[in-house]
Amino acid sequence: MDQVEEIKSKVDIVELIQEHVPLKRAGRNFKGLCPFHGEKTPSFIVNPELQIWKCFGCSKGGDAYSFLQQIEGMEFGEALSNLAKRVGVTLESYKPTQGEQVKERLVAINTLAGQAYHYLLTQHKLGKEALEYLRQRGLGDEVIKRFNVGISWAKGH
Ligand SMILES: [Zn+2]
Repeated sequence: MDQVEEIKSKVDIVELIQEHVPLKRAGRNFKGLCPFHGEKTPSFIVNPELQIWKCFGCSKGGDAYSFLQQIEGMEFGEALSNLAKRVGVTLESYKPTQGEQVKERLVAINTLAGQAYHYLLTQHKLGKEALEYLRQRGLGDEVIKRFNVGISWAKGH
């Protein structure tokens, strides 16, 4: 059994999906309102024996990986490492695709930039004026910190 299958067999798909969709037991299945299309009567079914989910309204369906991919907008590799962590399996040799590497790098860059701008706003003298302005507008330090509010300047300004 490869790791993809191993992890899938260890994941409690009902528990996983229930973090996003309230489910009710219906015989051997679990039932809930589909998160992928608007509905008032549940047609979203999760089967814990087969470890699958299926919506009879919009006909989406799949396994734990595809659920995470669709609900969280993850790449397959992200869903895989997410679930691996969840069930305590160490991945041996998963190579992320180039797209995933780019995405990861972008997230890292954004995080760094965000921290830098936040630093400029809150710690640096360059951000002093802007910080005072934000405070006048009623933005407390708590909010500025929580939302990692920062400041940047357009080039040539
Ligand atoms: Zn649906």
